[in-house]
Amino acid sequence: MHTIVLIPGDGIGPEVTSAARRVLDATGLKLEWITVSAGATAVERDGYDNVLPDVTLDAIRKYKVAFKGPVGTPVGKGFKSVNVQMRQKLNLYAAVRPVRSLDGIKTRYEGVDMVIVRENTEGLYSGIEAEITTGVVTSMKVATEVACTRIARYAFKYAMQRHRRKVTVFHKANIMKLTDGMFLNCSRKVHQEEFPGIEYDEMIIDAGCMKLVQDPSKFDVLLMENLYGDLVSDLCAGLVGGLGVVPGSNIGPDAAVFEAVHGSAPDIANKGVANPLACIMSGVMMLNHIGEEATGQRIKSAYNRVLAEGKTLTRDLGGTASTDEFADAVITAMH
Ligand code: NAD
Repeated sequence: MHTIVLIPGDGIGPEVTSAARRVLDATGLKLEWITVSAGATAVERDGYDNVLPDVTLDAIRKYKVAFKGPVGTPVGKGFKSVNVQMRQKLNLYAAVRPVRSLDGIKTRYEGVDMVIVRENTEGLYSGIEAEITTGVVTSMKVATEVACTRIARYAFKYAMQRHRRKVTVFHKANIMKLTDGMFLNCSRKVHQEEFPGIEYDEMIIDAGCMKLVQDPSKFDVLLMENLYGDLVSDLCAGLVGGLGVVPGSNIGPDAAVFEAVHGSAPDIANKGVANPLACIMSGVMMLNHIGEEATGQRIKSAYNRVLAEGKTLTRDLGGTASTDEFADAVITAMH
Protein backbone atom coordinates (compact mmCIF):
# COMPACT_ATOMS: atom_id res chain seq x y z
CA MET A 1 0.00 0.00 0.00
CA HIS A 2 1.32 3.45 -0.96
CA THR A 3 -0.15 6.64 0.47
CA ILE A 4 -0.24 9.53 -1.99
CA VAL A 5 -1.23 13.11 -1.19
CA LEU A 6 -3.55 14.33 -3.95
CA ILE A 7 -3.94 18.02 -4.78
CA PRO A 8 -6.57 18.32 -7.53
CA GLY A 9 -5.80 22.03 -8.02
CA ASP A 10 -7.64 24.63 -10.10
CA GLY A 11 -9.04 24.93 -13.63
CA ILE A 12 -8.47 21.68 -15.52
CA GLY A 13 -6.61 20.29 -12.48
CA PRO A 14 -9.51 18.27 -11.02
CA GLU A 15 -10.38 16.87 -14.48
CA VAL A 16 -6.88 15.70 -15.40
CA THR A 17 -5.89 14.45 -11.94
CA SER A 18 -9.09 12.44 -11.59
CA ALA A 19 -8.58 10.88 -15.05
CA ALA A 20 -4.95 10.07 -14.18
CA ARG A 21 -5.96 8.69 -10.81
CA ARG A 22 -8.42 6.32 -12.51
CA VAL A 23 -5.57 5.05 -14.70
CA LEU A 24 -3.26 4.58 -11.68
CA ASP A 25 -5.98 2.81 -9.69
CA ALA A 26 -6.83 0.56 -12.65
CA THR A 27 -3.35 -0.97 -12.47
CA GLY A 28 -4.45 -2.84 -9.36
CA LEU A 29 -1.79 -1.22 -7.17
CA LYS A 30 -2.99 -0.50 -3.65
CA LEU A 31 -2.95 3.30 -3.51
CA GLU A 32 -4.41 5.31 -0.65
CA TRP A 33 -5.19 8.89 -1.69
CA ILE A 34 -5.28 11.73 0.84
CA THR A 35 -6.96 14.69 -0.84
CA VAL A 36 -5.96 18.21 0.25
CA SER A 37 -6.36 21.59 -1.38
CA ALA A 38 -4.19 24.39 -2.72
CA GLY A 39 -4.51 27.35 -5.04
CA ALA A 40 -7.56 29.50 -5.69
CA THR A 41 -9.74 26.51 -4.71
CA ALA A 42 -8.25 26.50 -1.19
CA VAL A 43 -9.30 30.10 -0.61
CA GLU A 44 -12.44 30.49 -2.69
CA ARG A 45 -14.07 27.07 -2.19
CA ASP A 46 -12.52 25.62 0.96
CA GLY A 47 -12.32 28.83 3.02
CA TYR A 48 -8.61 28.78 3.91
CA ASP A 49 -6.91 32.13 4.39
CA ASN A 50 -3.87 30.97 2.41
CA VAL A 51 -3.47 29.49 -1.06
CA LEU A 52 -1.13 26.92 0.44
CA PRO A 53 -2.70 25.77 3.73
CA ASP A 54 -0.49 24.30 6.45
CA VAL A 55 -2.49 21.05 6.41
CA THR A 56 -1.48 20.56 2.79
CA LEU A 57 2.20 21.12 3.53
CA ASP A 58 2.01 18.90 6.62
CA ALA A 59 0.41 16.07 4.63
CA ILE A 60 3.21 16.19 2.03
CA ARG A 61 5.84 16.28 4.79
CA LYS A 62 4.23 13.28 6.44
CA TYR A 63 3.60 11.08 3.39
CA LYS A 64 6.51 12.36 1.28
CA VAL A 65 4.88 11.84 -2.12
CA ALA A 66 2.26 14.09 -3.71
CA PHE A 67 0.39 14.09 -7.00
CA LYS A 68 -0.61 17.60 -7.94
CA GLY A 69 -2.84 19.28 -10.49
CA PRO A 70 -2.01 22.78 -11.69
CA VAL A 71 -3.00 25.68 -9.49
CA GLY A 72 -3.62 29.34 -10.07
CA THR A 73 -2.57 32.00 -7.61
CA PRO A 74 -5.13 34.84 -7.48
CA VAL A 75 -3.23 37.85 -8.91
CA GLY A 76 -3.15 41.15 -7.06
CA LYS A 77 -4.53 39.78 -3.77
CA GLY A 78 -1.20 39.62 -1.97
CA PHE A 79 -0.74 35.85 -2.20
CA LYS A 80 2.71 34.49 -2.96
CA SER A 81 2.69 31.87 -5.75
CA VAL A 82 1.60 28.44 -4.50
CA ASN A 83 4.19 26.63 -6.57
CA VAL A 84 7.08 28.86 -5.53
CA GLN A 85 6.05 28.57 -1.85
CA MET A 86 5.64 24.81 -2.03
CA ARG A 87 8.98 24.26 -3.74
CA GLN A 88 10.80 26.52 -1.29
CA LYS A 89 9.08 25.33 1.90
CA LEU A 90 9.48 21.64 1.08
CA ASN A 91 12.95 22.14 -0.41
CA LEU A 92 11.90 20.53 -3.69
CA TYR A 93 15.02 21.83 -5.32
CA ALA A 94 15.06 19.88 -8.59
CA ALA A 95 12.38 20.08 -11.27
CA VAL A 96 12.80 17.22 -13.72
CA ARG A 97 10.92 17.41 -17.02
CA PRO A 98 11.41 14.77 -19.70
CA VAL A 99 10.52 15.95 -23.22
CA ARG A 100 10.17 13.19 -25.81
CA SER A 101 8.79 12.65 -29.29
CA LEU A 102 5.84 10.26 -29.13
CA ASP A 103 4.70 7.85 -31.84
CA GLY A 104 1.41 9.02 -33.30
CA ILE A 105 1.97 12.70 -32.46
CA LYS A 106 3.14 14.45 -35.60
CA THR A 107 5.39 17.44 -35.07
CA ARG A 108 8.16 19.11 -37.06
CA TYR A 109 10.78 17.03 -35.25
CA GLU A 110 11.58 13.37 -34.72
CA GLY A 111 13.84 11.70 -32.20
CA VAL A 112 13.54 14.35 -29.50
CA ASP A 113 14.57 12.86 -26.15
CA MET A 114 15.78 15.38 -23.62
CA VAL A 115 15.35 16.15 -19.95
CA ILE A 116 15.19 19.61 -18.46
CA VAL A 117 16.63 19.88 -14.95
CA ARG A 118 15.55 23.19 -13.45
CA GLU A 119 16.74 24.75 -10.18
CA ASN A 120 13.52 25.22 -8.27
CA THR A 121 14.20 27.33 -5.18
CA GLU A 122 16.00 30.57 -6.04
CA GLY A 123 17.09 32.69 -9.02
CA LEU A 124 14.61 35.37 -10.05
CA TYR A 125 11.81 33.40 -8.33
CA SER A 126 13.16 34.17 -4.88
CA GLY A 127 10.23 36.52 -4.43
CA ILE A 128 12.37 39.35 -3.09
CA GLU A 129 10.85 42.43 -4.67
CA ALA A 130 10.83 46.01 -3.50
CA GLU A 131 9.48 49.40 -4.44
CA ILE A 132 12.52 51.67 -4.28
CA THR A 133 10.49 54.81 -4.87
CA THR A 134 7.30 55.60 -6.74
CA GLY A 135 7.68 54.28 -10.25
CA VAL A 136 10.79 52.21 -9.51
CA VAL A 137 10.61 48.56 -8.48
CA THR A 138 13.18 45.80 -8.28
CA SER A 139 13.24 42.02 -8.22
CA MET A 140 16.28 40.31 -6.81
CA LYS A 141 17.97 37.35 -8.49
CA VAL A 142 19.61 35.12 -5.91
CA ALA A 143 22.21 32.46 -6.60
CA THR A 144 23.86 30.56 -3.77
CA GLU A 145 26.79 28.22 -4.09
CA VAL A 146 24.92 25.56 -2.13
CA ALA A 147 21.85 25.56 -4.40
CA CYS A 148 23.84 25.86 -7.65
CA THR A 149 26.10 22.97 -6.63
CA ARG A 150 23.30 20.66 -5.51
CA ILE A 151 21.27 21.15 -8.73
CA ALA A 152 24.37 20.59 -10.87
CA ARG A 153 25.15 17.44 -8.90
CA TYR A 154 21.54 16.30 -9.32
CA ALA A 155 21.69 16.80 -13.11
CA PHE A 156 24.98 14.94 -13.55
CA LYS A 157 23.91 12.13 -11.25
CA TYR A 158 20.63 11.83 -13.13
CA ALA A 159 22.55 11.74 -16.43
CA MET A 160 24.86 9.02 -15.12
CA GLN A 161 22.10 6.85 -13.66
CA ARG A 162 19.98 7.12 -16.81
CA HIS A 163 22.90 6.42 -19.15
CA ARG A 164 22.66 9.85 -20.73
CA ARG A 165 25.53 11.28 -22.69
CA LYS A 166 25.70 14.97 -22.06
CA VAL A 167 24.67 17.88 -19.82
CA THR A 168 24.23 21.32 -21.41
CA VAL A 169 23.93 24.42 -19.22
CA PHE A 170 21.87 27.34 -20.54
CA HIS A 171 22.96 30.64 -19.00
CA LYS A 172 23.36 34.37 -19.46
CA ALA A 173 26.63 34.81 -17.59
CA ASN A 174 27.79 37.30 -20.20
CA ILE A 175 25.28 39.77 -18.70
CA MET A 176 24.57 38.42 -15.18
CA LYS A 177 28.18 37.82 -14.38
CA LEU A 178 27.82 37.11 -10.68
CA THR A 179 24.57 35.09 -10.47
CA ASP A 180 24.76 33.11 -13.70
CA GLY A 181 28.54 33.14 -13.27
CA MET A 182 28.03 31.30 -9.97
CA PHE A 183 25.69 28.81 -11.68
CA LEU A 184 28.29 28.14 -14.38
CA ASN A 185 31.23 27.85 -12.01
CA CYS A 186 29.40 25.36 -9.81
CA SER A 187 28.34 23.30 -12.85
CA ARG A 188 31.91 23.24 -14.19
CA LYS A 189 33.32 22.25 -10.81
CA VAL A 190 30.83 19.41 -10.28
CA HIS A 191 31.53 18.18 -13.80
CA GLN A 192 35.32 18.28 -13.46
CA GLU A 193 35.57 16.91 -9.94
CA GLU A 194 32.73 14.39 -9.82
CA PHE A 195 31.49 13.45 -13.31
CA PRO A 196 34.31 13.92 -15.85
CA GLY A 197 32.99 10.97 -17.86
CA ILE A 198 29.83 12.81 -18.90
CA GLU A 199 30.08 15.31 -21.75
CA TYR A 200 29.56 18.91 -20.68
CA ASP A 201 28.57 21.94 -22.72
CA GLU A 202 27.52 25.56 -22.06
CA MET A 203 25.35 27.80 -24.20
CA ILE A 204 24.22 31.38 -23.85
CA ILE A 205 20.49 30.89 -23.55
CA ASP A 206 19.42 33.01 -26.53
CA ALA A 207 21.63 31.02 -28.90
CA GLY A 208 20.59 27.84 -27.08
CA CYS A 209 16.91 28.54 -27.82
CA MET A 210 17.70 29.07 -31.49
CA LYS A 211 19.57 25.75 -31.60
CA LEU A 212 16.71 24.03 -29.78
CA VAL A 213 14.15 24.99 -32.40
CA GLN A 214 16.56 24.19 -35.26
CA ASP A 215 17.20 20.64 -34.08
CA PRO A 216 16.07 19.58 -30.60
CA SER A 217 17.23 16.01 -31.18
CA LYS A 218 20.82 17.21 -30.60
CA PHE A 219 20.15 17.93 -26.90
CA ASP A 220 20.25 15.52 -23.99
CA VAL A 221 20.10 16.82 -20.38
CA LEU A 222 19.53 20.58 -20.09
CA LEU A 223 20.49 22.24 -16.82
CA MET A 224 19.40 25.76 -15.92
CA GLU A 225 18.26 28.14 -13.20
CA ASN A 226 14.66 28.71 -12.20
CA LEU A 227 13.21 31.29 -14.62
CA TYR A 228 15.05 29.90 -17.65
CA GLY A 229 13.84 26.40 -16.79
CA ASP A 230 10.26 27.62 -16.57
CA LEU A 231 10.38 29.26 -20.00
CA VAL A 232 12.39 26.59 -21.78
CA SER A 233 10.07 23.84 -20.46
CA ASP A 234 7.08 25.33 -22.28
CA LEU A 235 9.18 26.01 -25.37
CA CYS A 236 10.29 22.37 -25.44
CA ALA A 237 6.73 21.15 -24.86
CA GLY A 238 5.83 22.92 -28.09
CA LEU A 239 8.46 20.90 -29.95
CA VAL A 240 6.89 17.53 -29.14
CA GLY A 241 3.14 18.20 -29.28
CA GLY A 242 2.35 20.79 -26.63
CA LEU A 243 1.72 21.11 -22.94
CA GLY A 244 -0.63 18.14 -22.94
CA VAL A 245 2.27 15.71 -23.31
CA VAL A 246 5.03 16.89 -20.97
CA PRO A 247 5.20 15.57 -17.39
CA GLY A 248 7.27 16.70 -14.47
CA SER A 249 8.44 16.14 -10.94
CA ASN A 250 9.74 18.35 -8.14
CA ILE A 251 12.25 16.44 -6.07
CA GLY A 252 13.83 17.20 -2.72
CA PRO A 253 15.65 15.24 -0.04
CA ASP A 254 12.49 14.78 2.06
CA ALA A 255 9.57 14.82 -0.39
CA ALA A 256 8.59 14.73 -4.05
CA VAL A 257 5.66 16.33 -5.87
CA PHE A 258 4.64 15.07 -9.31
CA GLU A 259 2.80 17.37 -11.69
CA ALA A 260 2.52 18.16 -15.39
CA VAL A 261 4.35 21.19 -16.78
CA HIS A 262 1.09 22.84 -17.90
CA GLY A 263 -0.99 25.30 -15.90
CA SER A 264 -4.68 25.36 -14.98
CA ALA A 265 -5.74 26.26 -18.55
CA PRO A 266 -8.77 28.39 -17.62
CA ASP A 267 -9.66 28.70 -21.32
CA ILE A 268 -10.69 25.02 -21.47
CA ALA A 269 -11.58 24.30 -17.81
CA ASN A 270 -14.78 22.40 -16.96
CA LYS A 271 -15.32 21.33 -20.55
CA GLY A 272 -13.94 17.81 -20.22
CA VAL A 273 -11.57 18.35 -23.16
CA ALA A 274 -8.17 18.77 -21.48
CA ASN A 275 -5.52 16.22 -22.31
CA PRO A 276 -4.79 14.12 -19.18
CA LEU A 277 -1.69 12.53 -20.74
CA ALA A 278 0.88 14.88 -19.15
CA CYS A 279 -0.71 14.13 -15.80
CA ILE A 280 -0.78 10.37 -16.47
CA MET A 281 2.90 10.54 -17.47
CA SER A 282 3.67 12.41 -14.23
CA GLY A 283 1.91 9.51 -12.49
CA VAL A 284 4.32 7.10 -14.20
CA MET A 285 7.25 9.19 -12.92
CA MET A 286 5.70 8.93 -9.46
CA LEU A 287 5.43 5.12 -9.74
CA ASN A 288 9.10 4.94 -10.72
CA HIS A 289 9.95 7.08 -7.69
CA ILE A 290 8.10 4.77 -5.29
CA GLY A 291 9.68 1.63 -6.72
CA GLU A 292 6.75 0.49 -8.89
CA GLU A 293 8.63 0.64 -12.19
CA ALA A 294 6.95 -2.42 -13.74
CA THR A 295 3.50 -0.92 -13.23
CA GLY A 296 4.71 2.40 -14.60
CA GLN A 297 5.95 0.59 -17.69
CA ARG A 298 2.52 -1.01 -18.17
CA ILE A 299 0.86 2.41 -18.22
CA LYS A 300 3.53 3.76 -20.57
CA SER A 301 3.06 0.89 -23.04
CA ALA A 302 -0.71 1.41 -22.86
CA TYR A 303 -0.66 5.13 -23.66
CA ASN A 304 1.95 4.59 -26.37
CA ARG A 305 -0.43 2.10 -27.99
CA VAL A 306 -3.37 4.51 -27.78
CA LEU A 307 -1.29 7.32 -29.31
CA ALA A 308 0.14 5.15 -32.08
CA GLU A 309 -3.36 3.91 -32.96
CA GLY A 310 -4.45 7.53 -33.23
CA LYS A 311 -8.19 6.85 -32.78
CA THR A 312 -8.67 8.31 -29.32
CA LEU A 313 -6.82 11.60 -29.15
CA THR A 314 -7.82 14.78 -27.35
CA ARG A 315 -8.39 18.05 -29.21
CA ASP A 316 -4.91 19.46 -28.61
CA LEU A 317 -3.53 16.47 -30.55
CA GLY A 318 -6.02 16.82 -33.39
CA GLY A 319 -8.63 14.36 -32.12
CA THR A 320 -12.11 14.68 -30.64
CA ALA A 321 -11.85 12.49 -27.51
CA SER A 322 -12.74 13.87 -24.11
CA THR A 323 -10.46 13.77 -21.07
CA ASP A 324 -12.25 10.69 -19.75
CA GLU A 325 -12.43 8.92 -23.11
CA PHE A 326 -8.65 9.15 -23.42
CA ALA A 327 -8.16 7.81 -19.89
CA ASP A 328 -10.63 4.97 -20.62
CA ALA A 329 -8.70 4.07 -23.78
CA VAL A 330 -5.47 3.85 -21.76
CA ILE A 331 -7.17 1.66 -19.16
CA THR A 332 -8.55 -0.64 -21.89
CA ALA A 333 -5.12 -0.86 -23.54
CA MET A 334 -3.60 -1.86 -20.21
CA HIS A 335 -5.77 -4.96 -19.82
P1 NAD B 1 -1.49 26.96 -19.22
O1 NAD B 1 -0.38 25.97 -19.24
O2 NAD B 1 -2.57 26.76 -18.24
O3 NAD B 1 -2.17 27.01 -20.68
C1 NAD B 1 -1.48 27.41 -21.86
C2 NAD B 1 -2.24 26.88 -23.10
O4 NAD B 1 -2.07 25.46 -23.18
C3 NAD B 1 -3.74 27.13 -23.02
O5 NAD B 1 -4.23 27.41 -24.31
C4 NAD B 1 -4.30 25.79 -22.54
O6 NAD B 1 -5.63 25.53 -22.97
C5 NAD B 1 -3.32 24.79 -23.16
N1 NAD B 1 -3.21 23.60 -22.30
C6 NAD B 1 -2.55 23.52 -21.10
N2 NAD B 1 -2.68 22.29 -20.60
C7 NAD B 1 -3.42 21.58 -21.47
C8 NAD B 1 -3.90 20.23 -21.48
N3 NAD B 1 -3.63 19.38 -20.47
N4 NAD B 1 -4.65 19.85 -22.52
C9 NAD B 1 -4.93 20.69 -23.53
N5 NAD B 1 -4.51 21.96 -23.59
C10 NAD B 1 -3.75 22.40 -22.57
O7 NAD B 1 -0.81 28.39 -19.07
P2 NAD B 1 -1.49 29.81 -18.71
O8 NAD B 1 -2.81 29.92 -19.39
O9 NAD B 1 -0.45 30.78 -18.99
O10 NAD B 1 -1.70 29.77 -17.12
C11 NAD B 1 -2.96 29.56 -16.50
C12 NAD B 1 -2.77 29.50 -14.98
O11 NAD B 1 -1.99 28.36 -14.61
C13 NAD B 1 -2.03 30.71 -14.38
O12 NAD B 1 -2.70 31.06 -13.20
C14 NAD B 1 -0.66 30.17 -14.06
O13 NAD B 1 -0.06 30.83 -12.98
C15 NAD B 1 -0.98 28.74 -13.70
N6 NAD B 1 0.15 27.79 -13.84
C16 NAD B 1 0.24 26.82 -12.90
C17 NAD B 1 1.22 25.85 -13.00
C18 NAD B 1 1.30 24.79 -11.95
O14 NAD B 1 0.49 24.76 -11.03
N7 NAD B 1 2.25 23.89 -12.01
C19 NAD B 1 2.10 25.87 -14.10
C20 NAD B 1 1.97 26.86 -15.06
C21 NAD B 1 0.98 27.82 -14.93
